[in-house]
Amino acid sequence: MKLYSTNNKDLRVSFQEAVFNSMPQDKGLYMPVEILQLEQEFIDNIEKYSLPEIAYKIASTLLKDEIPAADLKALVEEAANFDAPVVKLDEETFVLELFHGPSLAFKDFGARFMSRIMAYFLKDGEQLLDVLVATSGDTGGAVALGFLGVPNTRVTILFPKGKVSEVQRLQLTTNGKNIRAIAVDGTFDDCQALVKQAFADVELNAKFRLTSANSINIARLIPQTFYYFNAYAQLKRQGFKDVVFSVPSGNFGNIGAGLLAYKMGLPVHQFIAATNANDTVPRFLESGIYETKPSVQTYANAMDVGAPSNWVRIMNLFNDDRNAIQELVKAYSFTDEETLSGINEVFEQFNYVACPHTAIAYLATKTYTEENPGDKSAKVFLSTAHACKFPEVFPVDILKKIQLPTQVESLKNNPELYDELGKDFEEFKGYLLEE
Ligand SMILES: *Cc1c(COP(=O)(O)O)cnc(C)c1O
Repeated sequence: MKLYSTNNKDLRVSFQEAVFNSMPQDKGLYMPVEILQLEQEFIDNIEKYSLPEIAYKIASTLLKDEIPAADLKALVEEAANFDAPVVKLDEETFVLELFHGPSLAFKDFGARFMSRIMAYFLKDGEQLLDVLVATSGDTGGAVALGFLGVPNTRVTILFPKGKVSEVQRLQLTTNGKNIRAIAVDGTFDDCQALVKQAFADVELNAKFRLTSANSINIARLIPQTFYYFNAYAQLKRQGFKDVVFSVPSGNFGNIGAGLLAYKMGLPVHQFIAATNANDTVPRFLESGIYETKPSVQTYANAMDVGAPSNWVRIMNLFNDDRNAIQELVKAYSFTDEETLSGINEVFEQFNYVACPHTAIAYLATKTYTEENPGDKSAKVFLSTAHACKFPEVFPVDILKKIQLPTQVESLKNNPELYDELGKDFEEFKGYLLEE
């Protein structure tokens, strides 16, 4: 697989280069030169395959020239080693649960695959790979648990002190081994600024082999196509041919992967982009004017993004044709008040606890269904995280129903280890150089 930059269509880099660079120097995003199709016969018979089998088929279609079959198979099986079940709520409404991985959020798919791809490409005796990541909550946990124990790598995670939930903090601070967590006395933006400065620092780059693990890495996008194909397989087994996917969106990596899957041959009737008050994309699809804004804080805080970094990839997939995107992707945004009533409604109607991000995807599904009463497709909203990661949002009666998964319970027995720093870059730099 060769990749180009969305800022330079003549650029050609290998997959390996794209993975370690994360982003081209011209600040575009890497995209595959050619979107390879899955074989029609495979898609026609997809209901016969399991998630690891589907994942391997996709990975080998894309990466067979880069990684020998046996290695790729082992890698994919290790990365996609948890379920992504489609749960039926009523005759036409389903929830695709993407929170059964180690950090209880869909980012596990991307982070586990990326960490193993990086480790695979690191040759014996090569310099340690230093991953620097800033997190507002979910990314850090997925990256920490994705890289935990992966040889030849070390991860440093910056999180805003006191501003992540308990479960999120435990996932960052109880690992030890090759994972270091730093509580920064500041906001997520301060954490991100420190990481950005570190990547631009000559001395740090001379001493360390730095890489970022953020959501724009192509190795995070690819594995997110797996669960779309696998969801389709599950629905086909239940007799559905047409599927609508509603995706809670912030940086638009998740729905971007869905659209990539579509371009690879996945039959999807309709995509729905569901956002909180950070509605840059819904406004763009409506008006044709792409205007980013500073992000505003909401209950669905993993989607508090004013300038969605993956949007340019989606524009590229559709040759900048807004009409083509509009036909395939409906977009809706919801306020915090609506999010809360969505949580209540899902609970009352289906006895199901949805995290705030998931509730927004549900609300978008409902709006779409009301606008399209004749559409008999399976309506699937994606659940991107387990509710226990966002306890502060829930009314007490629903909060009581949230069961902590066993992997979280056991974290509580581990000591929390983290360093504390201010938001001054020289202090952070000194900390890194000391090691
Ligand atoms: C990251 C995240 C999202 C947003 O996904 P994007 O790929 O950035 O659109 C939604 N929900 C949860 C729980 C997340 O962690």
